[in-house]
Amino acid sequence: MTQSITTLIHHPYVPPAGFDAPQPGVFKASTVFFPTVAAMRSREWKDKSAYTYGLHGTPTTYALEERLCTLEGGLQCLLVPSGLAAVSLVALALLKQGDEVLIPDNAYGPNKALAEGELKDWGISHRYYDPMDPNDLDAKMSNRTRLVWVEAAGSVTLEFPDLPALVRIAKGKGALVALDNTWGAGLAFAPFNLLPANETPLGVDISVHALTKYPSGGGDVLMGSVITRDAGLHLRIKLAHMRLGLGVGANDAEAVLRALPSIELRYRAHDETTRILAQWANAQPAFVQVLHPALGDSPGHAHWKSLCKGGPGGAAGLFSVVIDPCYSQDQVDAFCDALNLFRLGYSWGGPISLVVPYDLASMRTAWPAHIARGTLVRFSIGLEAVEDLQADIAQALQILG
Ligand SMILES: *Cc1c(COP(=O)(O)O)cnc(C)c1O
Repeated sequence: MTQSITTLIHHPYVPPAGFDAPQPGVFKASTVFFPTVAAMRSREWKDKSAYTYGLHGTPTTYALEERLCTLEGGLQCLLVPSGLAAVSLVALALLKQGDEVLIPDNAYGPNKALAEGELKDWGISHRYYDPMDPNDLDAKMSNRTRLVWVEAAGSVTLEFPDLPALVRIAKGKGALVALDNTWGAGLAFAPFNLLPANETPLGVDISVHALTKYPSGGGDVLMGSVITRDAGLHLRIKLAHMRLGLGVGANDAEAVLRALPSIELRYRAHDETTRILAQWANAQPAFVQVLHPALGDSPGHAHWKSLCKGGPGGAAGLFSVVIDPCYSQDQVDAFCDALNLFRLGYSWGGPISLVVPYDLASMRTAWPAHIARGTLVRFSIGLEAVEDLQADIAQALQILG
């Protein structure tokens, strides 16, 4: 071994300070150095005033956290390796044996699977409520209810609940309210500020977000965030985050940081194309119902209008159709297979349009009264030209004769 290898590792060169460029630097670390033992003992990571270990934060993750707070109107943010990890972190941080969690019946499926799996095994019970009936939530709240999930719109069936009413009921009975805000993305409405300025402020306690979708925008990153406005609540979740050893890679954080400046433009583009296609789909005889909150006859349209119209009026990039029950599952599958631009795949928020047929009966405690009978197919709209996407659906519809 030469001595130069040691110099190469303990290199004295320090680049000049003051580098300034559009994107923040990417800092990668497990180990973080301390100048002295005293500094090692005294450094505090919980308030982000310093660095102690890569898992507790780097300039890159702090920068992303602060920007996401701005997007959603929060004050504190935690990053986790996926949207689902954000959902599970909230549950693990806030629920203990004997507690109950209430989940909307149209919730993101893996949230329900967590409740039916680990949470049940750990003595934490759950109940599903009808998201379109605040009275049902009210009736199901008990003195064991610690956490209430809300989602607007539902990510498969796209019905839009009366979010302020649900939040008011849950908070009124002392539960914490967590919103899965992946659909709204901080752009369709302000989760911590659900009412007009002249009314008493009302907001969710926690907003979780699958950064996998619109913030990353490329279909190539998995990440989630948990955003709060209450320092004490944030600390409870942060300590669980630390004990569970959750963190994200710097390259992934960089990918989200790069995509964030264009999120509003992309969201608006997905939204515009989706509205055109949903309108057009509404006129196709094979589709007995089209689910998209900006359509006048879609379930919860009035709630969407009253919550989202104050902002940019966003409605994201998803719509679902219910295919006439006269067509068999095989015919519906053949319709999906016949699409060319729409690829078969989960997730959304990237440049490529996707399609997934769902077995709604298996996903709900009962068939929702506001959804027509038939086979549900969800489209997630990418950034392609709307004419091409419409032509693709039109040609695939020929399969259904
Ligand atoms: C995709 C999604 C998640 C989970 O995100 P992952 O990063 O895929 O784990 C959670 N909630 C909703 C509504 C989603 O669409």
